Amino acid sequence: MSDASSSQVWSPSGWKDGQAFDPMSIAEADAGEASSISAARRFILPGVPNAHSHAFQRAMAGMAERLGDPDDSFWTWRERMYAFAALIEPDDLYAIASQLYLEMLEAGYTQVCEFQYLHHAPDGSRYDDPAAMSRALLQAAADVGIGITLLPVLYQTGGFDARPLSARQRRFGCATDEYLGMLQGLREHLAANQRLGLCLHSLRAVPESAMREVLFGRETGMPVHIHIAEQIAEVEECQAVRGQRPVAWLLDHAEVDADWSLVHATHLDELEVIRLARSGATVALCPTTEANLGDGLFPLSAYQSAGGTWSIGSDSHISVSPVEELRWLEYGQRLTQRRRNLASRPDRPSTGEALFAAAWSGGRRSCGLSDDFDSAGGDWLVLDHDAPPLVGAKADDVLDRWIFSGNRPLVREVWTQAQPRVISGRHIHREAVEARFALHMNRLLQRM
Ligand SMILES: [Zn+2]
Repeated sequence: MSDASSSQVWSPSGWKDGQAFDPMSIAEADAGEASSISAARRFILPGVPNAHSHAFQRAMAGMAERLGDPDDSFWTWRERMYAFAALIEPDDLYAIASQLYLEMLEAGYTQVCEFQYLHHAPDGSRYDDPAAMSRALLQAAADVGIGITLLPVLYQTGGFDARPLSARQRRFGCATDEYLGMLQGLREHLAANQRLGLCLHSLRAVPESAMREVLFGRETGMPVHIHIAEQIAEVEECQAVRGQRPVAWLLDHAEVDADWSLVHATHLDELEVIRLARSGATVALCPTTEANLGDGLFPLSAYQSAGGTWSIGSDSHISVSPVEELRWLEYGQRLTQRRRNLASRPDRPSTGEALFAAAWSGGRRSCGLSDDFDSAGGDWLVLDHDAPPLVGAKADDVLDRWIFSGNRPLVREVWTQAQPRVISGRHIHREAVEARFALHMNRLLQRM
């Protein structure tokens, strides 16, 4: 361990003296004037990947927290979400996503997997550019400087019984050929630090034949994402129609491997836990959204014991903070098991570090990026070592103190592609992005 005046860099094998490995020296050489922000002593961490996002939902965060139906649930929330989604056009989506991605960077997320199903105009008609909504997201990510894995979503049916899409779902729907054509067309619009993945909305929204067609001939290394087993009603409907629980059915009917991310996977039986862990897939967990929607609790301890990989996502964006996702992931387990430090392991006794290490490597996989630390350069965050929660911290304490000491933002700098995006806790374009967001939000709220 180095003396207190030098930088220290976290890697999956532990903290290292920044003199031996100093990404900032490379970044600062590229960044010119920004080198003046360099401080003598810093705690440097790789950026956190956000494995699950629906950007448009950022604009309705906090607007579905009043009792409407006495039986309020995920399904009544979904009706409100659909009503809001019906208002959003490509320029609104660009403004909302820019604001969201800026907030992600300020919180320490440097990559996002964007699960994008708002394809068409609100009445289902096609935009002149059929991928206008997806391109708004790519542009927003490029402009604020977050890496993105865009996941255009295949969405075809309104339930396991193959009922047609409702009026409000019509803008999500694509025939399989149309979907594959959109994906192909988007390839030529990818900028640096942008990737494409395949995405099935859920088993209830994708018939088996369409799933097979989309997955046929998929390239190794291309991410595949799907929502699965988030709700008990979904599990029961899958059992009734397909004769199996959703995760068991998927493992039996698709070649689920390390390219796959199963989003939520909340409701698993014991055998599904083991089979899913062994498949090599990543489970994308969204603890704050899962709590907000009353989904249920993922069996993290059993899944980790079986060797399973997981990542975190902010999903509906009722919180945009890797700290809060990781803290509530651990707290959910503590509350149900009445024990402490459940994500830690004998070789990694720090719970904060165990959580961060798992979320980093699983998140990289969800993004379709290597989780080999030495080839993962470019995305870094620097914590504010002067902030009260980190006073006197040793490197080995830093992750526990960051994650478990409250809500004061401790991210001081964020770099992606060796460029500074956040300086002194503020995104370099915060004023302009916030002003555009306010303009579009006010317009949207008038239309509600
Ligand atoms: Zn989702």
